[in-house]
Amino acid sequence: MNKQLTELPGVGPATLNNLHALGIFSIEDLCFHLPYSYQDRSIFTNIENLTEGEEHVVRGRVVSVQTIYRPRKMMVIKINDGSGFLNLRFFYFHPSQAKEFVKDRNVISFGKISLSKYGYELIHPEYSFDENNIIEKDFLVPTYRITKGISQKKIRAFIHNALEHYDFTEAGEDLKRYDPAFAMDLKSALTTIHLPAIDESLPELLPGGSHPARVRLMKEEMVAFQCGMIAIKEKKHKQTAYECPNEESWTKGVLRNFPFDLTNAQNRVLQEISQDLTKNIPMLRLVQGDVGSGKTMIALLACCRAIDSGTQAVMMAPTTILAEQHFLSIKALLQDNEDHIALLTGSTTARERKIILKKLADGDIKLLIGTHAVFQSDIVFKKLGLVVIDEQHRFGVNQRLSLVKKQNENNKAPHQLTLTATPIPRTLAMSIYAHMDVSVVDELPPGRSPVITSLLSKQKTSELSQRVSDAIKNGSKIYWVCPLIEESETLDLSNVEEREKELAEFLPKSIITKLHGRMKPAEKISAMEKFKTGQTKILVSTTVIEVGVDVKDADIMIIENAERFGLAQLHQLRGRVGRGEKQSYCILLHKDNLHPDSKQRLEVLKNHTDGFKVAEEDLKIRGPGEILGSQQTGIVPLKYTNLIRDSRFLESTKNIAENLTKENPATAENLVKRWLSGSIGYAEA
Ligand code: ADP
Ligand code: MG
Repeated sequence: MNKQLTELPGVGPATLNNLHALGIFSIEDLCFHLPYSYQDRSIFTNIENLTEGEEHVVRGRVVSVQTIYRPRKMMVIKINDGSGFLNLRFFYFHPSQAKEFVKDRNVISFGKISLSKYGYELIHPEYSFDENNIIEKDFLVPTYRITKGISQKKIRAFIHNALEHYDFTEAGEDLKRYDPAFAMDLKSALTTIHLPAIDESLPELLPGGSHPARVRLMKEEMVAFQCGMIAIKEKKHKQTAYECPNEESWTKGVLRNFPFDLTNAQNRVLQEISQDLTKNIPMLRLVQGDVGSGKTMIALLACCRAIDSGTQAVMMAPTTILAEQHFLSIKALLQDNEDHIALLTGSTTARERKIILKKLADGDIKLLIGTHAVFQSDIVFKKLGLVVIDEQHRFGVNQRLSLVKKQNENNKAPHQLTLTATPIPRTLAMSIYAHMDVSVVDELPPGRSPVITSLLSKQKTSELSQRVSDAIKNGSKIYWVCPLIEESETLDLSNVEEREKELAEFLPKSIITKLHGRMKPAEKISAMEKFKTGQTKILVSTTVIEVGVDVKDADIMIIENAERFGLAQLHQLRGRVGRGEKQSYCILLHKDNLHPDSKQRLEVLKNHTDGFKVAEEDLKIRGPGEILGSQQTGIVPLKYTNLIRDSRFLESTKNIAENLTKENPATAENLVKRWLSGSIGYAEA
C-alpha cells in the first residue's frame, strides 16, 4: 500500500496545497513529477572562463558588499577568485544576509551567468559558505516545475523521499515481454531520471533524448495513452446511436440554396460521414481542413441528414461571434425550415432562452447553434442525433466534457463530429486522435488566389497609412489586428484603443469599428455586422477574430507585433482574407530591429500559404516538440511524451497497447490510471 503525501516529512497543510497546485496528489504523482532539465554542479569554473548564458559554480573571496538604492534597492557582492571579478546581485534580501558576506570570506555560488556593463554577474544565485551545499560531485542536479512555497531544494527532497516510499510492486511486470525497452524496471528508470549519475549524457536525458531510462518511461506513457484511446473506443462501440440514413427536405433545401458546387474534397468527406451516420454506433469523426476549405458546409449537411432522419442536431462554436455568424449564414441556406433553428449564446435573454428550451424539449427546434451555452445542464433535447464541435481545439477541457455527457432516452449517444483547422500530418493525426476517425478536406474551393504576404517594420507604419486610405477608396475592407486592447504599462505593444484613434486622424471615424473581448456580446455582434455589411471598412480588433470569422470581401489583413504570435495563429488570422474573388494581402507589422530568427520565422508565412507547409517549416525552425502547444492542437497533454516530437513510437506502442488490452486488461487499466488519471476524460470529449 502506498503512503499518503502527508506522511512524508515536511508536508504540512500549506505544503500540501502547494503540491496540489502542481497537480501532485499522491506519492505516485511525486515520483512521476519529472525534471525538465539538469545542472552540472560538479566543478568550479574560473571567472575568466565563464560563458554568458550558461550555468556555472564559482568560488571566490568577498571583495566588497554594497547596498545600492538606484534604481531600486539591491545588494551587490563583488567576489574575486584570482582570475577575475564577479558580481552577485540580489533584489530581495534580508539585512542579515548582507552581514554574512564578511570581506575575504570564501563564498560558493551557482547560477546562470549574465553579462552587464559591470562585467559578469549572477542574479539571485544559490550560494553557500560551505561548498558541500552547492557542489554535487556524484549526480546531475535536476530542475523541476515548481510553484510558490515550493523551492527546487524542497521538491527534490520530497521526490527522493517519495521514491523510497513508492510501492513498485503495484507497477506490473507485464510490459517486459512486449518491448526490450521495458527490460529496465520502473524503479531504476525513475531513479535514473531523478538522480542521474554525473557521467550520464545530459542531452540524452532531456526531452527528446534517447537515454534508456527516458525512452522506457516515455514508451510506458505512450502505451498508457494508447490503452486509454482503445478504452474510449470500446466504450463508444458499446453504446448505440440513432441511425440517420435519410436525405430529405433539409438536405435538398440547403443544396438548392447553396450558390456553389461542393468541392470533390467536401463530397468525399460527406460520403465518409454519411456512412457513419447510417450506422447505429455513435460516429466519432474529426474533420481536418485548412482555413477556408469549407468545413461549415460539411457540418451543416451532416446536421441536415440527422434532422431528415428524425433527430435533432446541435452545432457548437468557441466564440459568440462565430456562433452568430454560423447562425446567420445557415439561416440563409435554410429558408423553408428557418423556424426550426435557433441561436443560443451567453447573450440570449432569459425570456428567449426559456422559449428555446421548451421548443428543444418538444422537438420543435431541430438545429441549435451556439457557444458552450448550448450544453448547460438544464438543456434537454427531445432526440439528439448529432453534435458538431467547430474549432475543437479552442474549447476548454470541461466544456468538451459536459458535452459528451448529453445522452438521450434509452441511453442513446449522439453521433459526434469535430472540425479543426490544426494542420497536423494525417498519419500523425490518426494516431494522436486514435479514438476518432479522421477525414481530411484537402482542397480549397475554386477561384481563390493565394494571399500575398509581406513583412513591414513598425517604423514604416506611416507609409502604410497612405496605402490603407488608397485601398479603402478602391473598395477594400481591412482587418487590423493588435495584440492588446488598451495601453499597458509593462508591455510595449500596440493596442486597439490607440490604433483606432490614430487611424481616425486620417480616415473618417465613421468607417472604423473596433472589436475586442471586453465588449458586450451585443456590441461585438453589431460591430461584426457593420463590417460585414460594409457600413464600416476597417475593423480594428484583437485576435477575437482569429477563428472562423467569414467576411467574403475582406481583402487586407494587417497584424501588428506579428513577432508576438505563433505561426499557426498567424496562419489562422491570415485565413480571414482571401475568401473572395479579389487579390488579398496580409501585412505583418513587426518591431524594428527584429531578431534574424524571428524574421526567418515570419518569412515562412510570406513563402507559404498552405497550412500544412507552414506547420512543417515551423517544425524545422523551432525543432520538434515545440511545434504547437497542446492548447493550439487540442491534443491530450501528457506528462512526459510530446506526441508530435515522439511520434516515431506511436505505431509500436499502439500494437503493444492492443495486445496488452487483450492479454492483461488489469495492467492496461492500471497504466491508464497511473499516467492519464487527469486527462483521459479530456481525450474523450
Ligand atoms: P472553414 O473550413 O475555414 O470553416 P468555411 O466553411 O467558413 O471554411 O468556408 C469558407 C468560405 O468558403 C465560405 O464563405 C463558404 O461559403 C465558402 N465555400 C464553402 N464551400 C464552397 C464551395 N464548394 N465553393 C465555393 N465556396 C465555398
Ligand atoms: Mg470554420
